[in-house]
Amino acid sequence: MLTPLPTYEDALARFEPVIGLEVHVELGTASKMFCGCATKFGAEPNTQVCPTCLGLPGSLPVLNGAAVESAIRIGLALGCSIADWCRFARKNYFYPDMPKNFQTSQYDEPIAFDGSVDVAVPSAESGGELVRVGIERAHMEEDTGKSLHVGGATGRIHGASHSLVDYNRAGIPLIEIVTTPVIGAGARAPEVARAYVGQLRELLLALGVSDVRMEQGSLRCDANVSIRPRSSAVLGTRTETKNVNSLRSIERAVRHEIRRQAGVLLAGGTVVQETRHWHEDTGVTTSGRVKSDAEDYRYFPEPDLVPVAPEREWVDRLRGTLPEPPHVRRGRLQQEWGCSENEMRDIVGAGALGLVELTVAAGASPQAARKWWLTELARRAKEDGLGLAELPVTPAQVAGVQALVDVGRVNDTLARQILDGVLAGEGEPEEVVAARGLEVVSDDAALGDAVDRAITANPDVVDKIRAGKVAAAGALIGAVMKEMRGQADAGRVRELVLARLS
Ligand code: ADP
Ligand code: MG
Ligand code: ZN
Repeated sequence: MLTPLPTYEDALARFEPVIGLEVHVELGTASKMFCGCATKFGAEPNTQVCPTCLGLPGSLPVLNGAAVESAIRIGLALGCSIADWCRFARKNYFYPDMPKNFQTSQYDEPIAFDGSVDVAVPSAESGGELVRVGIERAHMEEDTGKSLHVGGATGRIHGASHSLVDYNRAGIPLIEIVTTPVIGAGARAPEVARAYVGQLRELLLALGVSDVRMEQGSLRCDANVSIRPRSSAVLGTRTETKNVNSLRSIERAVRHEIRRQAGVLLAGGTVVQETRHWHEDTGVTTSGRVKSDAEDYRYFPEPDLVPVAPEREWVDRLRGTLPEPPHVRRGRLQQEWGCSENEMRDIVGAGALGLVELTVAAGASPQAARKWWLTELARRAKEDGLGLAELPVTPAQVAGVQALVDVGRVNDTLARQILDGVLAGEGEPEEVVAARGLEVVSDDAALGDAVDRAITANPDVVDKIRAGKVAAAGALIGAVMKEMRGQADAGRVRELVLARLS
């Protein structure tokens, strides 16, 4: 049955959306959570395995101390309390890529709980607002292996002729970070979801605990969405859209799910509590498996691992290793860069603080770094539906382009063409300059001929300049720039024009 979805505006007029985000982060530890196996991404299948992560009889787990340290630092950075004492549990279910037939996870005793983060949500008019997102818990667990379904059209099990399993990923340390329900974001719920995950990604990067690559699965997000009639006091039934693997998809998936649920309720139906799959190509979610809260994994405390009781001294020491808190960092950078409050709000709102900082560190002036990220690159990101950080250009490359401007080798027009080349994967700025022949010409011999031609072709302009209207020189400079396809040093052209006519 194909009833058209209500528009987003219609859905919002009737219902209030509520979201909750579960983010899984693969830690960048050298070895796995409970054994010494390596964790390198992309290794030959089943070469990073041992009896423990394969769940062979008699093997015993040993907890990875570096992973606990990362878990505590993540918890502290999210403003959480750190448990004095906590345990692992067995979450029992069969899955071919889970060789032990249970996942070792934390359940009702997470290592970190009750935190919050203030998320900067960009907005066109005001340069961004802060939305507080509660953190219910951050707990430790292990990743599963990976199934590969071969022979079908979709890569899913349906239609496949056979399946292969790679256990290299089984046992890689994971931290699951779960928000409390985010209520009151209204129409901006999809943007809040995206901004939260984007900011979490930056925080994890700053902590140095993970490479947080969404496309490689080292950061994965499940988006819970429900809607309720505007007059209702109780939350609606949620769906959980699994493994949405880019920031842009998170926003799209939440937006779609709000419209879909509104369509169901407006047609007199009820929303089913289930997991759903996001389809990047068609922009819709489809039903996964029905999942109730009472789902019984027969959790019980893991008998093979001792409880984790982090000493307060250790926790305090780890607190000292945290990156600067966001508001302190913002104040410091504002002072260093000499920016106004409004300029800072724009930078933060655009999610460009870290990028501008790195661009300045790579040698650009704060003004230039801000200009590139907030105008030209912001426009490109918007066109491609990407976050700024997802653009295929690094802060060092942006600084490299600006350095070419600073020494007068290119002007702004050419600089933008160099960025085109870098974004198109043509290499470093210098390589793009060489390959596309983008350097400005400031050599008098080459410019002189073009200047002479412009003078001959525009006698009326020449008369005006000779009569003292120096501003009219702009027309001649423009003619020369046009002939040189923008690759002339405009300052030098102006000097040559005026010298010839004085
Ligand atoms: P599960 O075991 O289903 O993964 P979790 O407790 O790990 O459950 O995560 C549930 C997520 O769903 C949390 O982020 C929570 O805030 C969110 N959530 C719970 N109820 C609702 C609701 N009614 N609407 C939207 N999100 C919800
Ligand atoms: Mg969960
Ligand atoms: Zn192992």
